Amino acid sequence: MSAEHSLDTLTFDTPLFINGKPRAGGAGQLPIVDPGTGKQLGSVELADSEDISDALNAASRAFPAWSATLPSQRGAILKRAGQILAEGADHAAAVLMTEAGKTRGEARGEIGRAIETFTWNGEQAGRIEGRIIAGAADGSTRFSVPTPLGVVAAFTAWNFPAVLCSRKLGGALAAGCTVVLKAAESAPATAAILVEALVAAGLPDGVVNLVFGDPPAVAEQLLSSPVVKAATFTGSTAVGRKLAALAAPRLIRCVFELGGHAPVIVCEDADIDSVIVTTSPAKFGSAGQSCVAPTRYIVHRSLQEEFCAKLAAYADSLTLGHGSDAGTTLGAVANQGRVDALVRLTKDAVSRGARLVTGGGQPERDGFFFEPTVLVDVSADADIMTEEPFGPIAVVTGYDSFDDAIEQANRTAYGFAAYVFTDSLARRNQAVAQLNAGNIGINQMAPSLPDAPLGGLGDSGVGYEGGTEGILSFMQLRLISQSAPTR
Ligand code: NAD
Repeated sequence: MSAEHSLDTLTFDTPLFINGKPRAGGAGQLPIVDPGTGKQLGSVELADSEDISDALNAASRAFPAWSATLPSQRGAILKRAGQILAEGADHAAAVLMTEAGKTRGEARGEIGRAIETFTWNGEQAGRIEGRIIAGAADGSTRFSVPTPLGVVAAFTAWNFPAVLCSRKLGGALAAGCTVVLKAAESAPATAAILVEALVAAGLPDGVVNLVFGDPPAVAEQLLSSPVVKAATFTGSTAVGRKLAALAAPRLIRCVFELGGHAPVIVCEDADIDSVIVTTSPAKFGSAGQSCVAPTRYIVHRSLQEEFCAKLAAYADSLTLGHGSDAGTTLGAVANQGRVDALVRLTKDAVSRGARLVTGGGQPERDGFFFEPTVLVDVSADADIMTEEPFGPIAVVTGYDSFDDAIEQANRTAYGFAAYVFTDSLARRNQAVAQLNAGNIGINQMAPSLPDAPLGGLGDSGVGYEGGTEGILSFMQLRLISQSAPTR
């Protein structure tokens, strides 16, 4: 972090942003806490129902002009916002690092990804195409025309506050929709920086409205509004189900990116060191609080012992601390509740026969930390085998046949990411055909990049975000069928 972005000079107080203007909320404020110290950084304004009504009205009023704006001009604003974000990247990364408990490298990387996301969607906005389909009768023609849906209600999790907001805003704005974004109350200042970049880039008033508040009440008001035509949510499966129920009466289109419980199958021909180097940054990065984080390592029995020892050595080599401390390689978890959940999951696994190879507890220091942890031979009925741990815990189990490995991998109701390490073409093909996952990495991770569609199966979500598909998620393909003209 550069000197001008030392923690003392950062401000975190975050207003609502409605119809082009920041404002205080009618429902008071909530403290923003640094997970790395447990201390308050500032406050976020909370919207009351009048604020939410104003946000909906602003988004609704802005829609006709924004949807009629040339796609290339909409894209130009997104690209300019990416440039503005890049110019302030150090500051944005310092804010993100502090309010989300990340390491400095993670925060910088995430701001970089948000810049790419705005830029890619900006470039793609002018390239969305319809299709001509052969007519069904003599002289008739048919064509499909992508048209923006209307106002989008967007909800984001705290764990990647820049990437998640940029993916939703990038796709919806490129499509020509306007947005009411309810970002996470625990990492609000990063969301505000993204919105400020869009405004500085020339986004018209009302096109994006940023709100915070009591999440269930805000969600109910947004999703019962007749102006909202789509809901996009990234967060836990439990909350996703609640939002889906709220969206059901009006049959609002839903794009939901939910929880995960990613397996890593390590075959007998895999190089153990390479598996650890490749997967550990995703396992322990963001303190394991990522939907694509490897959770269960399913290792061929012949490699299991060596694999555990090497994974534990990697975990032990991590330096836990505040992101602003030089040398920190493992940041904080969200709050004390998350630490308590990780302690509970570890104790439950051990009580059911698992061996704790390393870690397993909350270190004695300020903030919300959990030691990097490796558990081996965890029984299938342990809570951690089906509950998303969302923390720096790696579970290792053994397998004898590849069929058994696939069966173990598919045991949870989640279907977000899965990884396989093998050079065998037959096993790769079997994995692609049989793994219950929307994103499969083979001898590598499966990163969510702006140019490719990302979506989960089962309890991990509905629909796609990213790529052209992520823009089309906010559009209706209108089918026009027309008879031959008579004059
Ligand atoms: P969360 O579900 O608690 O919160 C997400 C959003 O929903 C926040 O804006 C929150 O304020 C809001 N919310 C919370 N309770 C609500 C309620 N009752 N009604 C309406 N809205 C409510 O999730 P989190 O703890 O912020 O994030 C972690 C989860 O997100 C994990 O399950 C993780 O796997 C998932 N996630 C998924 C992806 C993906 O791409 N699939 C990416 C990141 C995170």
